[in-house]
Amino acid sequence: MKTHLLALLLAASVCGGETVQHRGIWLHPDQFKTPQLAEEWIAKIAAAHLNAIYPLVWYHGGTAWFKSALSPMAADVPEGFDPLGNLVKLAHARGIAVHAWFVNGSYGGPVTKGVFAQHPDWQLQGDRGGETWYDLGQPAVRDFQRDVMLECLKNYDVDGLHFDYIRYSGQVICYCDHCQHEFAEKYGFRPLNRSEERFPAFLDIGANPLGKPTTANVLAVFDHGVPAIAVNHLDAGEAVLVNWQAAGHSCLALDNFVTATMKRFGATAKTTYQIHTTQTAAKYQPTEQEKTRVWLKGLGFSTKLIDESALAKVPKGATVVLAGQYLISEETTKWLEGFTRAGGHCLFVDGPVFAIKQESLQRVVGMGGTAKYFHDWKIVSPAPDQDVLKPGPPVDAAKERERVEKWVEYRRGTVTELVRAVYKGAKAIKPRAWVNAAVFYKKESADKVCQDWYGWLREGCIDYVLPMAYTEKNDELAKAFAEWREFDPRMERIIPGLSIYSRQEGKAVPRDLALVRSQLDMCKANATHGNLFFTLAYLTDELIQFLSTGPFAEPAKPYYPKTGE
Ligand SMILES: [Zn+2]
Repeated sequence: MKTHLLALLLAASVCGGETVQHRGIWLHPDQFKTPQLAEEWIAKIAAAHLNAIYPLVWYHGGTAWFKSALSPMAADVPEGFDPLGNLVKLAHARGIAVHAWFVNGSYGGPVTKGVFAQHPDWQLQGDRGGETWYDLGQPAVRDFQRDVMLECLKNYDVDGLHFDYIRYSGQVICYCDHCQHEFAEKYGFRPLNRSEERFPAFLDIGANPLGKPTTANVLAVFDHGVPAIAVNHLDAGEAVLVNWQAAGHSCLALDNFVTATMKRFGATAKTTYQIHTTQTAAKYQPTEQEKTRVWLKGLGFSTKLIDESALAKVPKGATVVLAGQYLISEETTKWLEGFTRAGGHCLFVDGPVFAIKQESLQRVVGMGGTAKYFHDWKIVSPAPDQDVLKPGPPVDAAKERERVEKWVEYRRGTVTELVRAVYKGAKAIKPRAWVNAAVFYKKESADKVCQDWYGWLREGCIDYVLPMAYTEKNDELAKAFAEWREFDPRMERIIPGLSIYSRQEGKAVPRDLALVRSQLDMCKANATHGNLFFTLAYLTDELIQFLSTGPFAEPAKPYYPKTGE
């Protein structure tokens, strides 16, 4: 690499003055897992005058796209081929830097395969949201990931190591013995856990709640009085509402309640349908619905996913689940009313907040409107005038808040431990290697997943970060710049990651060039030292043409922050 950089430096100086700017792009194995693909894509990268690539080399249950003694090579790589080794050669020949991209927190594969097949106990316990994560709280997990990353740095002429998903999926994790014990030892009291068999429970909750109960029997309430769980009888049928995004934000008491409810409904795999309305599908990601499917499956209830076209086939007395279905057509709410009156069962998870305007749906759930959206820690308590949920011991909100605070501090620390260990190891192997990370671009979002990148920069256990600011809204991006510059006024260690694709009707398409241009202009106006694009698959000929004749017309060598050495 050194010689190539030198050649580039000389060439630049001959031309009189050199441009230094980080012009990076993320790429997936689909763009370099064979010699042909790598050739084809590296030519495009060079044509766009990009100078730093971030190829994904480790993900999917510990699958590698480099030769590793610790992880198997991906199955779709031609026998004997070394994707990263080949890519480094091709890139360096063109003066393009290579940062090996690792996915740390998210497992990205079935637990029956890969790392978790050998080490089932390395899996994060909790947040039963259907996603599988590494438990970075365990030293053995951190050591393993550190070793894989350092092995790559040792054996390949890469310019840096790149963390991704260097976080958890939330804060309410992990419930394994190791983490519980380590926490109790460190802080002197038991950690947050979800093992309470009865409400009240203290939970991290996001909710689009329904309100204004009419005929519904409210079984549990949030601490600000809004119904949390309600049941409504309508003729021969019944509807149960869990009034928040409960999948992944449950507790044993709720799991028990939902299990008992589904049993009472007589829900079996043959008679349980999960309705995903076409209107909701068109407007929202299927996150809540998918998480709920996995949650219910974990409780022993399989659901069959359908849309409105299959409603006619739903038998009388069956069970339908509507999770995160905010928009429901009037025809469907009328069907729901008829279905329920005839002895059908409904389980709503999170309020159908737009559809509730329809009277037929109001009659099904026994609620007349909505309450305000919230995302906060809340106590869910049994309501006073009901005898379905038997109350457990009272909850002291102040004590629980302290528990949460310390728990988050502890979880955050475990992520930082890994960053620190890799940084230390990398600098010992190759002092000039750059250790960097893709991070949530808003501090508030990063905090919610225990990703303390501001702390890493302050401590100096990361060289620079690449906030993933994929928004299409330039006012959002402007807010992000303001937040970043408050911390790093000269944007020396924050290099924005911008998207070059957009979502249209659920599909990813190349982003409108005018939008890409305006966001690059914003980078310039905020004096960034470059940016990264996500992702190479959307580097179109049009964009290459624009970059190489416009903002990136002058060739540049990649910017890196001063290290103080
Ligand atoms: Zn754990």
